[in-house]
Amino acid sequence: MSDLNKNIEKLAGYLKRFQDGGVLNQIGGKAVPAKAGATFETRSPVDDSLICQVARGGAEDIDAAAKAAKEAFPAWRDFAATERKKVLHRIADRIVERAEEIAFCECWDTGQALRFMSKAAIRGAENFRFFADRAPAARDGQALPSPTLLNVTTRVPIGPVGVITPWNTPFMLSTWKIAPALAAGCTVVHKPAEFSPVTARILMEIAEEAGLPAGVWNLVNGFGEDAGKALTEHPDIKAIAFVGESKTGSMIMKQGADTLKRVHFELGGKNPVIVFDDADLDRALDAAIFMIYSLNGERCTSSSRLLVQDTIADEFEAKLVERVNNIRVGHPLDPKTEIGPLIHKTHFDKVTSYFDIAREGGATVAAGGERAGDTGWFVRPTLFTGASNDMRIAQEEIFGPVLTSIRFKTEEEALELANAVEYGLTGYVWTNDLSRALRFTGKLEAGMIWVNSENVRHLPTPFGGVKASGIGRDGGDWSFEFYMEQKHIGFATGQHAIPRLGA
Ligand code: NAD
Repeated sequence: MSDLNKNIEKLAGYLKRFQDGGVLNQIGGKAVPAKAGATFETRSPVDDSLICQVARGGAEDIDAAAKAAKEAFPAWRDFAATERKKVLHRIADRIVERAEEIAFCECWDTGQALRFMSKAAIRGAENFRFFADRAPAARDGQALPSPTLLNVTTRVPIGPVGVITPWNTPFMLSTWKIAPALAAGCTVVHKPAEFSPVTARILMEIAEEAGLPAGVWNLVNGFGEDAGKALTEHPDIKAIAFVGESKTGSMIMKQGADTLKRVHFELGGKNPVIVFDDADLDRALDAAIFMIYSLNGERCTSSSRLLVQDTIADEFEAKLVERVNNIRVGHPLDPKTEIGPLIHKTHFDKVTSYFDIAREGGATVAAGGERAGDTGWFVRPTLFTGASNDMRIAQEEIFGPVLTSIRFKTEEEALELANAVEYGLTGYVWTNDLSRALRFTGKLEAGMIWVNSENVRHLPTPFGGVKASGIGRDGGDWSFEFYMEQKHIGFATGQHAIPRLGA
């Protein structure tokens, strides 16, 4: 039996319980259907077949979940941090034990290739371990003595929080947002993306099996415009950690205004990879290809705009075409597959619409530019050349395996092109000129920049974007800054003079 067939057989075993019972919500430690009894379908992008029914939560389910999170908050806040650390490590252990199940379900639900999803499950465990280890120090503060007072600072968890996640790597992104919230002492209501609900359910179950008290983590499935909106408007929810599109972020900011929500946004990107002619071009080529064609290009940090110096552009683009045409598109559970199907028909329609937009705008479709196969939402990895920065393919987030190549002459021009988009998430600079790298990175408008490297995530570093790419940072202590409130306490050290009114 081929590896693919073996994997498909195993997947059937993992999915059986969802096919029988659907994906339920979890509120106050209980698996429950939506109060109104409504459901929706999740379908596989491989062949559009039904995976299972999913509870379609609405405002009343969010209300119940928020109340459960509120009720569970004081005990979780006061849970000894050393014990919290142990629970979070146990969650990580169980993620590792069930990594194959998580990866297989994720592949089938999202279309992402197994070679990446098996690593994403393990990265999810690492996120829990990273924040578990930091939990005991999360409340540490400073001593800031003044002549009359001993001023100390401490941090306290903000309260129940809402976490809203997208579909592109749903398992990993959920761990990334929820692990620090729990480590800080917050309780959580999670609303996963409607296109990819399966692994969020597995993750939540793992957490309760690992000893997380009931109500600390609640899960409500549903659509953005009802369950998502209700979560952002709920008065008991103190903050919203959101990962998704920039326009959704702006809606959430409006929805959360009446209840003065603290928000953390990780939004879209149109990230440049800038290749100067003095760079190590073989490594630049590998990195540029990896950063746009891995994860189906459904990656916020993807290098979707190639800015290449005109002196090397012909050669670089020719090599690109050869490699892009070689990328293996196939079944996500086939270990050899490099690109799987796009998440959903609506997203497939969006991505493929840019093939005509490119042609009509005057660019050349140098590779791909068509669907792959007759069933499912597969597209050929695509490269547009001869593009200019004002074209829609250079400005809009396509969020698929589609790269737009634009040529530049000088460093100044490269910088101007790189910054002339509404987004500012990441940038990738390829040059062996150290002073140019310093100058360029200083002026590049992006929250994260890698020089002579693809995106290599290091959890202590800040993750996030500028401009329309986001507000706030994840990682290191920045995650705790979002999920916690600073508190100042001043202790009088003596009998300083207190101004006396009416004496
Ligand atoms: P999306 O904004 O459509 O949906 C994300 C989530 O928001 C879903 O759970 C959805 O149900 C919910 N939602 C939608 N409308 C809502 C509303 N009015 N109120 C509350 N919740 C609402 O995004 P998507 O299509 O699922 O994901 C792709 C996007 O995510 C891309 O733009 C990508 O760049 C971005 N992304 C960013 C990062 C990052 O770290 N910056 C990481 C991954 C993905």
